[in-house]
Formats: sequence, structure tokens, C-alpha cells
Amino acid sequence: MRAIQVKKTGGPEVLTLVDVPIPKPKANEAVVKIAASGVNFIDCYFREGRYPAALPFIDGQEAAGTVTEVGSDVKSVKVGDRVAYSNVMGTYAEYAAVPAERLVRVPDGITDQQAAAAMLQGMTAHYLINTTYPLKKGETALVHAAAGGVGLLLVQMARNIGARVIGTVGSEEKARLAREAGADEVILYSQQDFEAETKRLTDGKGVHVVYDGVGQSTFEKGLNVLRPRGHMVLFGAASGPVAPVDPIKQLMQKGSLTLTRPSLIHYVSTREELEQRAGDIFNMIAAGKLKLRIEYVYKLEQAEQAHRDLEGRKTTGKILLVT
Ligand code: NDP
Repeated sequence: MRAIQVKKTGGPEVLTLVDVPIPKPKANEAVVKIAASGVNFIDCYFREGRYPAALPFIDGQEAAGTVTEVGSDVKSVKVGDRVAYSNVMGTYAEYAAVPAERLVRVPDGITDQQAAAAMLQGMTAHYLINTTYPLKKGETALVHAAAGGVGLLLVQMARNIGARVIGTVGSEEKARLAREAGADEVILYSQQDFEAETKRLTDGKGVHVVYDGVGQSTFEKGLNVLRPRGHMVLFGAASGPVAPVDPIKQLMQKGSLTLTRPSLIHYVSTREELEQRAGDIFNMIAAGKLKLRIEYVYKLEQAEQAHRDLEGRKTTGKILLVT
């Protein structure tokens, strides 16, 4: 089968098309013929070695497809089932062997591409907004990179809750998409000082929560726009990792702030939670309450270009690789 392997860590050019055997399932695994694989920022972190992984590895952590073989202990899925999953490495490939407990069934009416697009970023937006900091009607949230994969979903979910959403984006086109998704206010942080703008838009009061997947370039100012006892939800580092934090200067003195650095894996660690979050996302898509933007569909062998475009801030919404 064809797969995109990382033999040594580095830039997008290390993503190499290889021919490897179709995996055989262990007793607890199912083999999935992958129809579409999601491309996520975390794939870049692994590719460049920011997150460690044993070499060589097949990149990618999100996919949807059809079960072609099951291990001897697997009862939850059978050959022919349409399934989706996230947080299992190796999706930039035609097939993958996946622990059956990580698979969720894809309902009729949801396409493979929608399922692949929804799992990782959808469940991330879901846990950030419902669990990490449960956003409430009438509150104000600042969402960075609001036209990105996670960003567009966060904006829609926040809007559905009845919160006021301020989004930041890097271009006019992204501003339009963020507004369409439901952002009440959009700040072009490439041209405007988002700290001053957010304070102005909130009459100096600040926001209840900042959802920050950008990191280095936004974190410090984000702390400055939180109201007292506000919540900094730092969930990524698209612009690079943030500097070490001084709790007294940056949390206590800025208003008894709360800081968390969550990861999806800890919010879908039980079967019950995984099914609940994935089920909610599929239901929202089916009901038209959550719209996926799947404009960037690349062939598997174009993984390098997909990473270049994601890291180059050229993409909006979801990026997929199709086999
Ligand atoms: P996005 O589609 O949001 O792409 C990243 C966006 O970040 C860019 O489009 C760009 O938007 C913005 N950005 C700002 N500065 C930079 C920079 N220097 N280089 C590149 N991009 C920059 O990606 P994802 O939706 O896949 O991921 C968003 C964030 O969420 C990532 O940090 C990712 O790691 C994190 N994440 C965290 C999870 C968790 O559980 N903790 C799970 C899933 C994702 P603009 O041009 O508008 O500034």
C-alpha cells in the first residue's frame, strides 16, 4: 500500500511516499481502508520532531474509511462497517490497523470526507467549549485563528450557545469566513493590535475566555484581554510554543486568571466520552448546526504540499488527504 512516512524529522520535504505492506490486525485491532485522512497541525509537530515519535512512522492521526479485516477479539465492528477515528498515528496511508476501541461508526448521511474532517478538530472544539471552559450564553469569547480548522468550528459552537464571539484572523478572506461562521466581531491581528481592539470592543471589561491555538504570538496579549477570573485555554502553538509562565505576574496580578493547556486525548479517554463527543458532532452536522469547510482536498502523495500550505497560513477550515 502507499503511505507517507517520516524517516527523519524536519520540514515538509521529509514526508516521503513509500510502498509498505498492508498491516495485519492484532487481536484487538481492525484494519481500515482509509478513504480520507485529516491533516492537522499536530501532524506538523510530529513531523518536525517537536513531539517525539519512534522513527520511521507514518504521519497523521485522523481518518475515516471502511473496515476490511478484524482481529480475533474484536466484536464492536465488522468487515464493511464505515468508521472514523482520531489520535492513532498512521492515517496518511491507504490502510491502517487501529485498536477497535478507538473506532466510532459513521452514521448514514455523513460522508467519509465529512467524518474524517470532523473527528479531531470537531471533538477538540467540542471539549474546549463544553468541558474545558463551558462557555455560557451571554459570555464573550475570543477565538484566535477563527478561520482555521478548529477555529471555524469553535466560532459556530460558541454562536450556537448564544455567546458573543470575537475572532482573530490573518487576512480579509479569513475575516469573511469567520463572520459567515457567526463571529460577531473579527480582528485582523496581522494589521490591528488585537489587545487594544478586544478591550475597545468590550468597553475595557475584557473577555471571559480566550481559546488560543496560536500560542507564541498571541498568548501574552491574550492574558491582558481577560477579565478578572477569566480563563486562558491555550490549546496549541501554531506560531510556536509559549515562554515559561510566571504564575504571580501573569495569572495572579492580571486578575486571578486560570490557565490550562488541554489535549484532546484526555477528553476522549473513555469509550463513553469518545462516543458522546463524536455522536454530538455527527448529530450537529446532520442537523445543519455545524458546517464543515472542506475546500482543501489533496491526494495522498501531495502531503508535503498540504503541510506547506497549512504552516504557510494558506488554508482555511479542514484539509484532507484522499487515497
Ligand atoms: P488551523 O487550520 O487553525 O491553522 C493554523 C492557523 O493558525 C493558521 O491558518 C493561521 O491563521 C494561524 N497562525 C497564526 N500564526 C501562525 C504561524 N506563525 N504559523 C502558522 N499558522 C499561524 O490549524 P488546526 O485547526 O489544525 O489547529 C489549530 C491549533 O489547534 C493548532 O495549534 C493545533 O495544534 C491545535 N490543536 C490542539 C488540539 C488539542 O487538543 N490541544 C487538538 C487539535 C488542534 P491566521 O492566518 O488566521 O492567523
